[in-house]
Amino acid sequence: MRCPYCNQADSKVIDTNHDTRGGVRRRRECLSCGQRFSTYERAILATPLVIKQDGTREEFDREKLIRGIRISCAKRPVSAADIDRLVGEIEATLQTMGKAEVPSRVVGDMVMASLKELDHIAYIRYAIVYLGFEDLNSVRDEIDRLLEGG
Ligand SMILES: [Zn+2]
Repeated sequence: MRCPYCNQADSKVIDTNHDTRGGVRRRRECLSCGQRFSTYERAILATPLVIKQDGTREEFDREKLIRGIRISCAKRPVSAADIDRLVGEIEATLQTMGKAEVPSRVVGDMVMASLKELDHIAYIRYAIVYLGFEDLNSVRDEIDRLLEGG
């Protein structure tokens, strides 16, 4: 870490603090000019690539996922904050899986599981539009399961 005052590379750490979000703040003193400065380190978790149905890979697209869920939640009592939180949780789960890539179905299943908790109508809409239930009978079966509390 170069000193921001004199650009020399040597500094000593005089204080280290770990914050609650996994970051590390270090207070340093330049061995050349004696100025003090702070550095902040934070581990960056990688989100796996998403493998689409046709076998191609794409970056996990948080905004796209939010848009899709928003459409399913139209005129339902689900707030933008709920959707943000839901997508944030899915992204965090994907990151902690530690995989380079995951099938899009895995992401879809996570959305489904979360929407099922949040709002049944939004859940059914999402299932129909984004996962493409084969036919109306499958949709009816799913609705029956929900009505039975399963
Ligand atoms: Zn310096």
